[in-house]
Amino acid sequence: MSGIQSRLNAISAVTNYKSTATPLNFAETKPTDLFGSNVFSDKVMKERLPRAAYKSLKKTIEYGEKLDSALADIVANAMKDWAIEKGATHFTHVFYPLTGMTAEKHDAFLVPDGNGGALAQFSGHMLIQGEPDASSFPSGGLRTTFEARGYTAWDVTSPAYILENPNGTFLCIPTAFVSWTGQALDKKTPLLRSLQALNNQAKRVLKLFGVETKLPVVSYAGPEQEYFLVDRHFVFTRPDLLIAGRTLFGAKPAKGQEFEDQYFGVIPRRVLAFMMEVERELYKLGVPVKTRHNEVAPGQYEIAPIFENGNLATDHNQMVMTVLRSVAKRYGMVCLLHEKPFAGINGSGKHLNYSIGNAELGSLFDPGETPHENAQFLIFCVAAVRAVHKYGALLRATVASASNDHRLGANEAPPAIMSVYLGAQLADVFEQIKAGAIKGTKKKDVLTVGVDTLPPLPMDPGDRNRTSPFAFTGNRFEFRAVGSGQSIAGPQVALNTMMAESLDYMATELEKAVKGNPDKLNAAVQILLQRVIKDHEAIIFNGDGYSEAWHQEAARRGLPNLKTTPEALPEITSKASITLFTKYGVLSESELHSRQEIYLEQYCKTIRTEANLAIRMAKTIIFPAAMRYQGELASTCANLKAIGHDVKMITLEDATAKLRSLQNSAGDLEKMLAGVPHGDSLKEAKYYCNKVLPGINEVRAWADSLESIVADDLWSLPSYQEMLFIK
Ligand code: ADP
Ligand code: MG
Repeated sequence: MSGIQSRLNAISAVTNYKSTATPLNFAETKPTDLFGSNVFSDKVMKERLPRAAYKSLKKTIEYGEKLDSALADIVANAMKDWAIEKGATHFTHVFYPLTGMTAEKHDAFLVPDGNGGALAQFSGHMLIQGEPDASSFPSGGLRTTFEARGYTAWDVTSPAYILENPNGTFLCIPTAFVSWTGQALDKKTPLLRSLQALNNQAKRVLKLFGVETKLPVVSYAGPEQEYFLVDRHFVFTRPDLLIAGRTLFGAKPAKGQEFEDQYFGVIPRRVLAFMMEVERELYKLGVPVKTRHNEVAPGQYEIAPIFENGNLATDHNQMVMTVLRSVAKRYGMVCLLHEKPFAGINGSGKHLNYSIGNAELGSLFDPGETPHENAQFLIFCVAAVRAVHKYGALLRATVASASNDHRLGANEAPPAIMSVYLGAQLADVFEQIKAGAIKGTKKKDVLTVGVDTLPPLPMDPGDRNRTSPFAFTGNRFEFRAVGSGQSIAGPQVALNTMMAESLDYMATELEKAVKGNPDKLNAAVQILLQRVIKDHEAIIFNGDGYSEAWHQEAARRGLPNLKTTPEALPEITSKASITLFTKYGVLSESELHSRQEIYLEQYCKTIRTEANLAIRMAKTIIFPAAMRYQGELASTCANLKAIGHDVKMITLEDATAKLRSLQNSAGDLEKMLAGVPHGDSLKEAKYYCNKVLPGINEVRAWADSLESIVADDLWSLPSYQEMLFIK
């Protein structure tokens, strides 16, 4: 089935949609009972592990102590029994390769017993280490063929869980994925390393303030996940949505999001049903999802969990994306996590709420109530400002991708220029510190930092500056440049390591000044804050990040504006970045090079696929429809002439000219693809960015202008209007 019929069928399927999903009943099974029911949680471990084993494992999980290898067999056995009771037949090491996806390879528990029967087996060794044949995952040159294997290693700090399928369940074990030489091939390994670096340096600063904590200092992440939902029948009739996850064509509809009638609007019934099932699945997996609402663009929504430890939050966000996609199918929809599925309306981001702290200390970005707490807060806050100033370009690079480029800097997401928003009160405090005279205090144990106490800082969302990429929001920073489809691991690896470096600097300076005499701390803190604010205030910007004036001002301040992925990615291997990551043992130079290489490759592949699709769709779908229309117009014209009318048909001329342009632009794009330079991936990426992408846009421009004149009954691609408004 093709042509206009498939479009009509899609519309009729959508309008006649009836849910086949089994209704849920939250009165029977309460969210509180469901929560964590498929997780090998603390509660389960306490019940099922011998006391000593439980205690020892808990130490590893909470305090980061080394895992006692004798434990593995005991834990594996308990895990196996628990999983089998829950219907599991297989187990899998789940890992996160650099494609940004979640990867899994299943192994059965079942092994023949040698006597014609079978038994279930799962040993400590199988829990701790796996050997997926992972030679097809990108390694960016880290592996040569003779050492193609990688192995997965159990991440004790992220709990195992069960995934359900109508025909059974399987046990999932979160793991890190490394090569045999120990090089990171995934997103989790550097995240765990960065958490360690952060802990070490944060503890040094805390020690100066006389703060002891048994727990490690971690980063917290609360990712707000945006997404689009489209009826799947539309997706099947749109090769671009199906293959590229975004529309490569589509004329602007008469109505977009300008009425602002979607944001926080009443959630459509079918969508709400979908959301409830998503939440139910996530509750079972122990993901603390909290908020749901309509987003700004038609067909756009958001789900956000309560923040968690950065490593767990990252695994959970991967689960959220997987569950969104799979549950959408049950409701006859497709969940689009692409950053810009539709031109002309908002795209989707993933605001990463970021703080550091632990259960004993709370957030170290929380100003607290006493002058002492305020002083400590200011050290952490100023360290963050310094970090973003020093490593802003690197931070920008961690969110660079072909799809996110469509969003950053458009009127919906922060610009590609990294800056920090403090809000009026805190900005004022910074000014006071900068200008203030350094005062020692008489009283012991009282720190005053030049301002007596901080004013209460508002946590009111109304006060937030949506145009800032990195905004202080009361007790955390909100990094808004992350794309909806991206793993939050990359940005956190950068943030944790940048923070570690900045805290290292602060601690070193304070240690030098104090020299073991706590009485000197107050003056030392004041001097340091004053100096660091002066050195790094260029990164602070509280105004409108979209304005042209800011772009000029940012250039004057020397802030990088890396607009596209090929401009941003080389920052991964800049001198500053190599020094940073190697110093704290987070990523080696070769690991950084491999990452840059893989991301450049992904960028090129994405745009190449889109270009091929655009050509194919232009030639086989759009051109034929427009030509048929041209034929109709031409025969009408001929008929009119035959009966004596002297006609000059404007529409015919218009259609003919546009058809020619469409054909020419598709031809040009083909030639561009034939001329892609090979061998140097950065050069190749730049070619895709500067030549091929504009080529795709050119084809689109002609196709979209044809869509606005061709007879509707000849047009086979569902329109923006239909995809966004028929529900
Ligand atoms: P908004 O849309 O107003 O920014 P949301 O409630 O949608 O707020 O999301 C805010 C996110 O920030 C949630 O995931 C929340 O748990 C998280 N968050 C709150 N406090 C912190 C914190 N100290 N550190 C990290 N994340 C936090
Ligand atoms: Mg939100």
